[in-house]
Amino acid sequence: MSTSLTHDVAVIGGGAAGLSAAVTLARSLRSVVVVDAGEPRNAPAAGAHNVLGREGVAPLELLATGRAEARHYGAEIRADGAVAARHLDTGFEVDLAGGDTLRVRRLILATGLVDELPAIPGVRELWGRSVLHCPYCHGWEVRGTRIGVVGTSPMSVHQTLLFRQLSDQVTLFLHTMPDPDDEAWAQLAALDVQVVTGEVSELRAQDGELRSVALADGQVVDVDSVVVAPRFHARGDLYAQLGGTLVDHPFGEMVPADPSGRTEVTGVWAAGNAHDLAATVAGAAAAGVVAGGAVNADLVTADAQAAVRSRRSVGR
Ligand SMILES: Cc1cc2nc3c(=O)[nH]c(=O)nc-3n(C[C@H](O)[C@H](O)[C@H](O)COP(=O)(O)OP(=O)(O)OC[C@H]3O[C@@H](n4cnc5c(N)ncnc54)[C@H](O)[C@@H]3O)c2cc1C
Repeated sequence: MSTSLTHDVAVIGGGAAGLSAAVTLARSLRSVVVVDAGEPRNAPAAGAHNVLGREGVAPLELLATGRAEARHYGAEIRADGAVAARHLDTGFEVDLAGGDTLRVRRLILATGLVDELPAIPGVRELWGRSVLHCPYCHGWEVRGTRIGVVGTSPMSVHQTLLFRQLSDQVTLFLHTMPDPDDEAWAQLAALDVQVVTGEVSELRAQDGELRSVALADGQVVDVDSVVVAPRFHARGDLYAQLGGTLVDHPFGEMVPADPSGRTEVTGVWAAGNAHDLAATVAGAAAAGVVAGGAVNADLVTADAQAAVRSRRSVGR
């Protein structure tokens, strides 16, 4: 049987962004419900790095701690998916996959993003362990080892240079990227980056460990890790249902918002990777705090205005 609930705020997504928003709101005595489908983006990684005070913490452990902190202040956490959202006169109605419907005054979309990986056999299987994308997330862990960068765009040269900072054994596989320009060739040569032409056909692993990159022309190059550049697709279904439009970004698409996370849809905020494709765990958490504060401020103003109207209506 479905239950109708009423909260000040529904936070959709219980990653670093959503839980931080929930803590901020709950500490301001707002009734807040977090709906979380439980698929944080960094789940495949062994540890979350550059997280001050929790350096290297297991991603799911960090979020379990965050859920406990949010609950401590009174937030409700639901392990469920939000599948539909509609406008009400007073806010929003959100349908959950489990059958319940929430009625809330404000919405924070902290739904994260989906990484679209290159369609190369082996990439998905090793993603987050020896197939990497971000030098700040796991670069230190592969320092000094054999790193292969799979080129898919002109930005692949920049990505190569970022990993070259971490190792002097870097190979750039040109794969499907456009031919580097003269300056890029000069930089790669000056930094002793090996460049391999031809399309990558598969990543080869043994006992779950990456061993080599195989090319369509038969070449095989031994590596310890591979770097790819996913396309980043913000999870924006609910935003679109509410009349919002995702915007293109050079690396994918995102929910547009102002620095506080306020979107063009009145009453809807976005935080974390849903809005900022490059946000790290700490950045997403910070955005959640900012959005939580902004939503509380918006509700404070609305409540004060309602109090004035109410007072005037009784002639005081
Ligand atoms: C392999 C990998 C390793 C990484 N390592 C690091 C690292 O070491 N350090 C670092 O700082 N960053 C790292 N990152 C980046 C990090 O994952 C993001 O910065 C962070 O997850 C963003 O937090 P978020 O809250 O915006 O989104 P997420 O953590 O992705 O959380 C979004 C949550 O919303 C839920 N959700 C989505 N839609 C719905 C819906 N409709 N209903 C209910 N729930 C929904 C999802 O299931 C998920 O639980 C890594 C990323 C990857 C891919």
